[in-house]
Amino acid sequence: MAKPPETTRETDAKGPSMSRSQAQIAMSYAPGQHFTFEGAAGACQAMPSPNATPARLAKTTKAQIEMRIDETARAWFDKAITCRENDNSAPRPFPDFCVDVSLLDTTRSQYGFRPQAFAYLRPDRMGYLPRPTTLICSECGFIEATENPKQMGQRLSELSRACPHPKRSGDSADCSWGQLDVIFAHWSGSWKSASPNMTIYDQTSRRPIKRYAVCGKCGSRQFVLNKDQVALSNWSFSCANCGTKNPDPWVEKCDETLSRIAATIGPGGNIVGEASMEKINYAASSAYFVKSDTFITFPEGSGIEALEPGQAYLLAGVVERLVGLEGPPLSDSDVSDQLVSRERSAEAKEFGEILEAIKSAGDSNNAIVVELMKKMKAERLANWQQAGWLQRNAALPANILFKLQQRHEWAGKYDPFRLLVEHAALARTKLRGDFLGGRASYVDFTNPDEWLVQPESPQRTTMIATAQEALRYLGIARAGLISKFDLCKFSFGYSRVGNTPRILKHGRMMPVRLNLFPKVQVGHESRHPVYVLEQSNEAFYFRMDEALVRAWLAQPEMGCTDGALLDEYPDNFAAAMLASAEVMSGYLEEHDRKSNPTIFKMTYALLHSYAHYIMQGIQQFSGLDLGSIGEYLFPCDLAFVVYRNGMTLDLGDLAALWRNHHEAFLAYLRNFPTSLGCNLGNLCMTKGGACPDCIMIPEVICLTANKYLSRSTLSGRGRPDFIAGEERVKGYLQFALENARAQQ
Ligand SMILES: [Zn+2]
Ligand SMILES: [Zn+2]
Ligand SMILES: [Zn+2]
Ligand SMILES: [Zn+2]
Repeated sequence: MAKPPETTRETDAKGPSMSRSQAQIAMSYAPGQHFTFEGAAGACQAMPSPNATPARLAKTTKAQIEMRIDETARAWFDKAITCRENDNSAPRPFPDFCVDVSLLDTTRSQYGFRPQAFAYLRPDRMGYLPRPTTLICSECGFIEATENPKQMGQRLSELSRACPHPKRSGDSADCSWGQLDVIFAHWSGSWKSASPNMTIYDQTSRRPIKRYAVCGKCGSRQFVLNKDQVALSNWSFSCANCGTKNPDPWVEKCDETLSRIAATIGPGGNIVGEASMEKINYAASSAYFVKSDTFITFPEGSGIEALEPGQAYLLAGVVERLVGLEGPPLSDSDVSDQLVSRERSAEAKEFGEILEAIKSAGDSNNAIVVELMKKMKAERLANWQQAGWLQRNAALPANILFKLQQRHEWAGKYDPFRLLVEHAALARTKLRGDFLGGRASYVDFTNPDEWLVQPESPQRTTMIATAQEALRYLGIARAGLISKFDLCKFSFGYSRVGNTPRILKHGRMMPVRLNLFPKVQVGHESRHPVYVLEQSNEAFYFRMDEALVRAWLAQPEMGCTDGALLDEYPDNFAAAMLASAEVMSGYLEEHDRKSNPTIFKMTYALLHSYAHYIMQGIQQFSGLDLGSIGEYLFPCDLAFVVYRNGMTLDLGDLAALWRNHHEAFLAYLRNFPTSLGCNLGNLCMTKGGACPDCIMIPEVICLTANKYLSRSTLSGRGRPDFIAGEERVKGYLQFALENARAQQ
């Protein structure tokens, strides 16, 4: 490793700040994360900068972010705090080992969410410090721990002048100094530079003590590192002077954890292992997991208000309307009764007057006034319903209502009720294709506008014919371009060692702590930064053919255990889906065990696999890499969106893809036996038909970390590995192909 470049040798304690693209900063340089600048050898750690621009957010956007952090953190806390409930020999973990103390109530015993703990920032400035701070010579293996970045910088310039190795001449010509890229990390979120000087647990005093390494034979304090080629865990160090190997295992302790548990270490209590840190490369994925989320933003009044905190009472009604399961309208006397029972006497009086006016105008045959008063009545009823003073008898069937009551257990991004409401809002604000800023908000591929092809040209006719035929062969009922797909991405915290709330270490379940980003000064207060990125990029919208999906789900090979729902709701796929839905938690743990196939699960896997297939096609023909594409699924609406991700100038990549390569792109998708192939062949298929060679994408981009995925849902010849049963399923694209041929 070469010397860190000048720019990283800053001594300012706050660290210099960097300017990168906002998307890059928000996701790749989140506070606490180690990274290297491109082309530079030195490692740095990102930290919040007080100079980042405050994010000005719409009320609904801010409410959504708060709700999602609250939801995530609460679920995390519940999982972490109960991690030892089946282990009588281990004490319950401390609440502050489960989540950041800012996510606890004032007694620090219960979960508690305070929106005012956060500050919303644009990720346009991020600070950083050169870290880790242990130096090593890659030639002679000499290792030297320094206390901080400033000391490291000074020491580095001294070392480059003279080698301190006692067995060498002092000539620095052969030495090559750099930072040791191994660190110690703990599931509490703490980390340390790897150093021969360690914190240990002192059995006699029952306290943690810091032990400075000294050679037991010659008393030297100089060491060389012995790298084991095979395993990091075998790394050790020996005396640079006499060569004696240090006999202690090189295991560092988390100071905070050890000092909290030290007094209770013993039989039936805590174990030293709870404080043991893991030796890892700072660039290893387990060294840092950012906590982030993405959602579609909608303008006010788009109908997503029912999803906001405190509006839950509206949701049943909204879902009823969207799914088409509304109960009978309220009678006039129901309306009066409900208004009175909710102490809206003024409204009850007004309602009585409206009814009287309608009656008297009807008696005198005044049709115009009748019409006017009826309109007024409808308006009032809508307002009162909106205000929550009127409620129609729940028309949702019991099995769907039950799912609705379970809603809090779902992670927001998988919650089918939320996605149903979001899809309706998308349909209202985008999919109607209204003109916004000179461009249609949605352009169907069977009706391309002048951005996609020259109007009234023969090319346009051909393009339409090509699209229509291909979509039929692909089982797609509707597809088009959304010119501005509005998304909000945010990151708010991190964990280390584990990406989920629990981890098994040293024979015991350990709580992994959800840490918020370190506080930053905002005005007079210090708050936890939340980095918010709003983007508005092109997206492709796809909706499957409902009849084909039904046929695909009903195939006997699939064996859906709740297939009867399809017959129960012959004209209402969404209702069947809601009745079939089973909780998908944030970590999708339920996916890790095989379970029975259900229509919800299989439809979700189909849409998800299809989205990945489209993403790979886009990558192939647009020059966009997978890292700059994202997916969004609407299971109950049989739809998904693949969007252009990132803040770089939108060059119209998706429109250009359609304009220039729609034929090749569609041909690629139609040629699924080849396009969906995998070099692992049978091996991949017997393992469920999803591997990094075929349909998987980098985990950080995927909505589900590559779960609910199998190309056998599309091309058949196998069976998804997350569902029980043996029979190979027939692929959706095989159904679509047969169906299209039969129609010819
Ligand atoms: Zn050296
Ligand atoms: Zn020695
Ligand atoms: Zn594969
Ligand atoms: Zn995915």
